[in-house]
Formats: sequence, structure tokens, C-alpha cells
Amino acid sequence: MTSVYETVLEQFREVAELVQLEEYLRKRFEKPEREIIVNFPVKMDDGSVEIFTGYRVQHSTLRGPAKGGIRYHPSVNLEEVEALAMLMTWKTAVVNLPYGGAKGGVRCDPKEMSRGELERLTRRYAYELSQVIGPEKDIPAPDVNTNEQIMAWIMDTYSMGKGYTVPGVVTGKPLSIGGSRGRREATGRGCVYIMMEAFKELGINPRNARVVVQGFGKVGRPLVKYASLKGCKVVAVSDSKGGIYNPEGLNFEKLQKTKIEKGSVIYYPDGKVIQHDEVFEVECECFVPAALGNAITEKRAEEMRCRVICEAANGPTTPEGDRVLNEKDVLIIPDILANAGGVTVSYFEWVQSIQEYFWSEEEVVSKLREILVDAYREVAETARKYETNRRMGALALAVNRTAEALRLRGIYP
Ligand code: NAD
Repeated sequence: MTSVYETVLEQFREVAELVQLEEYLRKRFEKPEREIIVNFPVKMDDGSVEIFTGYRVQHSTLRGPAKGGIRYHPSVNLEEVEALAMLMTWKTAVVNLPYGGAKGGVRCDPKEMSRGELERLTRRYAYELSQVIGPEKDIPAPDVNTNEQIMAWIMDTYSMGKGYTVPGVVTGKPLSIGGSRGRREATGRGCVYIMMEAFKELGINPRNARVVVQGFGKVGRPLVKYASLKGCKVVAVSDSKGGIYNPEGLNFEKLQKTKIEKGSVIYYPDGKVIQHDEVFEVECECFVPAALGNAITEKRAEEMRCRVICEAANGPTTPEGDRVLNEKDVLIIPDILANAGGVTVSYFEWVQSIQEYFWSEEEVVSKLREILVDAYREVAETARKYETNRRMGALALAVNRTAEALRLRGIYP
């Protein structure tokens, strides 16, 4: 299977050709601005000392400070972090935030580590990065296996070095120390706004439109909630244990209760239990992958019966799956647009942290919707202009915006 790095680079080369990007800009964007590798010791609970490797890659700071998550996983490696950092540059540019793109990670297995070990690892990693991150430089956020607590430790470590509290150094912080209202649900909620725009474009009435969601985690749950509130009929939902299907629709509150009490949606009392693969065969108006990357393979794409795919997960469709779905005329709303609600509210959090002035949830939500609806329209226009699909349209819009920044700023010195 192609790696994330290969896919991201291949897509960039394709779009560079499409927009006729100058040679020097192609070369510039294929490589990140700055890459940091840190090897650092952490005292473990049993008295031993382990050496961990961490990365931070800043792909671009042309449109503003670099922005992107930090992941903790045994498979973290430089190539993957480079690819994800480039994707962040395109994601922030699609929704026109004043940011560039970055990504970071530490190669570790957080599931095997105690809270104390994780705290010491996080603080040392944050210290190692303290010269290159900051509210005006590079602003980390949570990603795979990192959360609000880890952001709080990073903010505290960075602040200790400065001698005063710097809440704007990270986003995705707990609400009580400068987080934003509406941040937790932003990705799922934003994806529903995008889905509503796609339905409008295709003349699909959201009332009773059938929606299938793969994944019921931080993104999947609010997605099911807000799609249901829009009147959609969520007919199938899955998690790591399998899926649940009911053609009459699943009830969000009951799903949530089942997941919390029994650990999986498959124990939902009123539906048919289905296998992971079967979720892809359920007929629907919109399919939402909200779990892992590379979920929509060529084989699954052939079986899918939907009119729209909203990519809530990052990189959920393989290049082969993408080709099959484009041939079937499915409207695919790419990840860099469909899941940009998260980074958008991260941006709002950063603005609030810097200004030390906090917004109501209504304000956050209405500004989020405005930004995403504008981006949806601009991506559609760009795709029409270049006579291409939405994935290439979104990338073209993002690459053009970033390229314009470099042309205007010029080459230093
Ligand atoms: P999460 O860990 O909270 O949830 C993942 C869900 O996927 C869980 O319900 C898990 O049970 C389920 N899952 C795992 N394997 C599965 C399988 N084989 N079939 C069906 N379900 C399976 O993660 P998350 O934060 O919800 O992230 C989901 C995706 O969205 C990831 O690709 C992530 O990169 C992307 N994303 C997340 C955010 C965010 O704000 N959290 C923002 C942008 C993109």
C-alpha cells in the first residue's frame, strides 16, 4: 500500500502541474522549511532511563505561524510527519486561516506508559522544542493519542521557561486554562455544515437523507449528533468492534449511552449487528469515514452506494479507491476541507488566548459555519475553473494561496 508520504507528494505534483506552478515553487513546497529531530532521556517508573525520538516539522510559515498536531505512536517517523505537515499547510490555506502548516510526534507507545511517564516525556519534548514553538512561530495541538492534558503540560513547560503564562502556545487546551468553547465538537460539527452544502448542491433534502458513519470517537460522535439534529437519518455507525444498522435510523442519545455503558455501538438494542466491511455496502446519501486512514480501498469503493463522501478522517481514501469513486461520479469532499472545522476553532482559540477575551459558543459556531461555507464555495469554484474534482480543486486553491504569499514576499535576502 502507498504510504501517506507518497500519496501526499504525488497529489502535490499533480496539482502543481494543474495550476502550472513555477519550478522554484514546486521545489520549495516539496521540502519543509524546517525539521527538528530530538533524542531525549525520560526517567521511567521502574528507575530505568529510556531514550525517545521526537520530531517537529514546519512545512511553511509563509501565511503565518506554523500550525499542526502532535501525535504519540510507535510508528511515528520523519517521512510521515513531513507529509502530514505539508497537508496542514494546505488545510489552513483552504479555509484561509493566517497560518502555515506543521506536524510533530514522538515515537512511543502511550498505552504502555503511566501518567507520570507521559508527563515527563511531554515536558522534556516541549522543552526540546521550546526555541522553535511559540504563539507567533508554531502552535501545536492534539492529534493521535494526545489530548487536552498533554496540551496543558506543554503550555506549562513553555510558560515556565518564559517566566509568565503563555496560553497561545498551544490549542486544544482545557477550557479552564484558556481553551475555546465549541473546540471539542468542532470537527464533527464542521463536517455536518459541509455535508449540508453538498446536499444543497445536489438537491438532496437533508430531512431523512441517509447517513453512514464509520467511527464513533471524538469526530464521529458530534457528527452523528449534529447530522441527526439536521433531520438526517443515520442508518449505520461503526467502531473498532463492528457496526450497527437500522434502516429506520439510529438514535444518537441511545448510541452514546450504549457506547459509554457497554464500550461499543454494536450493543445498541435496536438494530442489526454488521461487520466492519459491511458498513461500506449500506446504501446512503452520504458516507462519512471518521476513523482511520486508508479505509476506503479499491474493493470497498466498488461496493459503496452513496452520492456524497465527506472525509472527516485524514486520508481515508486510497488513491485507487479515489479513482473508482470518481468514475462512479460520487461527490468526494476531501479531508482538507471536510475536517477543517477542528483547525478553524483552534484558530479561534488562539485568537481568544492572545486577546484574553473569550467568546460564547454561539459566536464560535456562527463564525465556524461562515468560514466553512465560504471555503466550500471557493473549492467548488476552483474545481470548476480547472475542470477537476474537489480534491484537486481544494489543493489548487490552497497551493495557489500559498504560492501567492511567496511570490509577494519574495526571496530573502
Ligand atoms: P478517536 O480515536 O476519538 O476515534 C476513532 C474512532 O474510530 C473510534 O470510535 C474507534 O473505535 C473507531 N475505529 C477504529 N478502528 C475502526 C474500524 N476498523 N472500523 C470502524 N471504526 C473504527 O479519533 P478521532 O479524533 O475521532 O479521529 C478520527 C479521524 O479524524 C482521524 O483520521 C483523525 O486524524 C481525523 N481528524 C480528527 C480531528 C479532531 O479534531 N479530533 C480533526 C481533524 C481530523
